[in-house]
Amino acid sequence: MKENKRLSKKEYLEQRKNKFLKRYVCKICGSPLSLVQGTNVMMCNNGECKGIERKYYENGKEKTAHDPFYMLLDERGIQIADSIFNS
Ligand SMILES: [Zn+2]
Repeated sequence: MKENKRLSKKEYLEQRKNKFLKRYVCKICGSPLSLVQGTNVMMCNNGECKGIERKYYENGKEKTAHDPFYMLLDERGIQIADSIFNS
């Protein structure tokens, strides 16, 4: 009996995890985002990812920077991310 209960809880967590990871995916390269420890930021860690293009001016010249793609978690998202990434 105990064995069954533990299994279903594990399955439940697995499902929740998969759902979560499917939701937090880089919109640019499609890689799953990972949690920046101690924050509510989910960030793309794919070194090949081009990231978000951002234009800025330096000494009157237009330059382009690439920021990593990120998404912010809400309170509940943080809890789920904690259980996924810190277990
Ligand atoms: Zn990416």
